[in-house]
Amino acid sequence: MRRKLSVRGVVQGVGFRPFVFNLACQCGLAGNVYNEAAGVYIEIEGFPDALDEFTRRLQGEPPPLARIQEVRSEEIPATGESGFEILLSRDTRARSTLIPPDIATCAACRRELFDPGDRRYRYPFINCTHCGPRFTIVQGIPYDRPLTTMSVFPMCPDCAAEYENPRDRRFHAQPNACPRCGPQLQIVDSELKGIPVEDSITEAAQWLHEGKTLALKGMGGFHLACSALDSETVERLRVRKRRIQKPFAIMLQDLAMARGLCLVSDEEARLLQSYAAPVVLLRKRPDCPVAESVAPNLEELGVMLPYTPLHLLLLDAVKIPLVMTSANFSEEPIAYRESEDRKTIVSLSDAVLLHNRVIHIRCDDSVSRIWRGRERLVRRSRGYTPLPLVLSLRAKRPILACGALLKNTFCLVKEDQFLLSHHIGDLENLETLRSFEEGIQHFETLFRCRPEVMVCDLHPDYLSTRYAEKRAGDGLRMLQHHKAHIAACMADNNDFAPVIGVAWDGLGYGEDGKIWGGEFFVGDLSELKRVAHLSEVPQPGGDTATREPWRMALSHLHSAFGAGWRDTLEGVMAPWPKRPVALVESMLAQNINLPRTTSVGRLFDAVAALVLGIETITYEGEAAIYLEALSRRASDLDKSYPFSIIHRNGHLQVAPEEVFQRVLRDLKAGVSRSEIGYRFHRGLAETIVAVAGRLREEHRLSRVALSGGVFQNTLLSDLTVSLLEEAAFQVLTHSQVPTNDGGIALGQAAWAAWNDQG
Ligand code: ZN
Ligand code: ZN
Ligand code: FE
Repeated sequence: MRRKLSVRGVVQGVGFRPFVFNLACQCGLAGNVYNEAAGVYIEIEGFPDALDEFTRRLQGEPPPLARIQEVRSEEIPATGESGFEILLSRDTRARSTLIPPDIATCAACRRELFDPGDRRYRYPFINCTHCGPRFTIVQGIPYDRPLTTMSVFPMCPDCAAEYENPRDRRFHAQPNACPRCGPQLQIVDSELKGIPVEDSITEAAQWLHEGKTLALKGMGGFHLACSALDSETVERLRVRKRRIQKPFAIMLQDLAMARGLCLVSDEEARLLQSYAAPVVLLRKRPDCPVAESVAPNLEELGVMLPYTPLHLLLLDAVKIPLVMTSANFSEEPIAYRESEDRKTIVSLSDAVLLHNRVIHIRCDDSVSRIWRGRERLVRRSRGYTPLPLVLSLRAKRPILACGALLKNTFCLVKEDQFLLSHHIGDLENLETLRSFEEGIQHFETLFRCRPEVMVCDLHPDYLSTRYAEKRAGDGLRMLQHHKAHIAACMADNNDFAPVIGVAWDGLGYGEDGKIWGGEFFVGDLSELKRVAHLSEVPQPGGDTATREPWRMALSHLHSAFGAGWRDTLEGVMAPWPKRPVALVESMLAQNINLPRTTSVGRLFDAVAALVLGIETITYEGEAAIYLEALSRRASDLDKSYPFSIIHRNGHLQVAPEEVFQRVLRDLKAGVSRSEIGYRFHRGLAETIVAVAGRLREEHRLSRVALSGGVFQNTLLSDLTVSLLEEAAFQVLTHSQVPTNDGGIALGQAAWAAWNDQG
């Protein structure tokens, strides 16, 4: 009996054919396997039981990186052949389909790395078909050694033999190498000249113990590493990086060390050890010895495990927690080429550990968490990019979605594959813009896709908007920021039925030219109609107010209490004696430089300014993050502050005046700040349920999509989802793409695919 199977999905460049080969051999089947443009084709011949076993195991135990979407099966005439073969592809397009992401060192390679009898013992670049660099070393297609940055390392006979042998774990492992033929590690001076040392890893570990900061060339760029136990060292790194408060990630030797410092659930353990090996946000243990300055004022730590052999060796040698943060000045993209980025690397570190495998494209670490039993990406990059999200939407023409401003990503769409880019960063300077442009070009080359439709944010001044305008001609589509958030949430769930969309974040340019950020919509990708929002308040000084939460507190108090706002603070706090209060007051009185905003992010700022006394912040969302951390300590979990929901100008509006009254009253009464913070959070969640309740009646919709950076706040999200579900709503939240602006490009792309008539 002979059967032909066609397999669709992520099945190329992930060790799928050797897996098929081995499985066929185990099942005692004859036949062959080959790649075609549409996927992998398998012909198998043998006893019916064996054919069934093969088909079952093919879908049940594919290689870790494979994503099987569909297996079609048909009976064909038997040929009587014996043996199983991997056939070379007859179609060159077949090899261009998908590039795998960079993958953490697998268990087998890890064993060899620490096995003194292995020929790759302690070799920092060990890899195989199941692990190692991919996305960051590919220069072009087909994905084959000559078109990777490994092309300059001709394989020695031993490595070549492994590479050619379909039974070997390194069959067609493009980065295959060994100490004789592959990349080498070196400690270098500030001119990047090699410093002779006996063992680079031992030397580096020694320096780290002495409190030095090491620049380390990794998979997708340079990291800065230093002891996470030594606050002086961490503080010095902060000064150098000009990164004042934003938390650093740490790298730990293994799961046991992670469990010693943080609370780790089984799901979190699996995520830490997954092939993507992201930074996982974990709850610190109360006695956690990591320096407070690593993640100031936070109860969570971003933890990752070593994901390259180099990291494994280094952590094995130092045996202490290391800060592991991208080598760059705050706001700039991660350094990745020693020749171009030498000055940056050298000025940020005391010593440099270099290797000579070229990083073709930079790629930051991904950040993720487990929430409500599922992985939720906060930043989707290394280990995930460039795997496509395959949606039930099909683009008639290739689409490029350019994303927004902060945490920018872009998204290239080819038919039903939504190729969301690695993390580009905040598109606010030329270096990041260059990284954005190079990234787009790289994606277009890798996926042989020339966009015909361009989509961008409505904000006229975003660099991503300008880029799209310059390239698009009449193929340009613009989508309002918060609509893109809701579209992203639908795409994340691959569910495009009409919803009540709640898009809450810091800011996005509104269709009325105002700053939006507390929006409710109803509809689907054909039309999302804005039906409710937080009531508008002035944002005194525009952008300045996003860095100075005290301005938002003043603005909200002014809106709630008018000129008498000052009196309401009596017995609570002095109204910002060190800040230009009179100036802002006169701006408010005379309506000067007062863009109006409906932002929930700014509302959080205002409440945090009152409850925590925060006057200025140093990174996006900082005040809200502190307020969330504090509010988690509350014990009275039923109390909340009521927002009023009013009908004004044809919209429902959520008005916070009473909330401010209650906050101030409780502050005066000496209610603990964590209780006050909690009541604010719960009030917001109850408001979402109340507004959704009204919209359900009016629009006959009972599905709610939550999106926008505010929902990174897991306390708020928990309360919101629980209360919505109690009220019999179906709730869509993010998981594969971030709820923050890192997901915007996917939303833009899905919307454009839905609406492009071709
Ligand atoms: Zn491996
Ligand atoms: Zn070799
Ligand atoms: Fe946003």
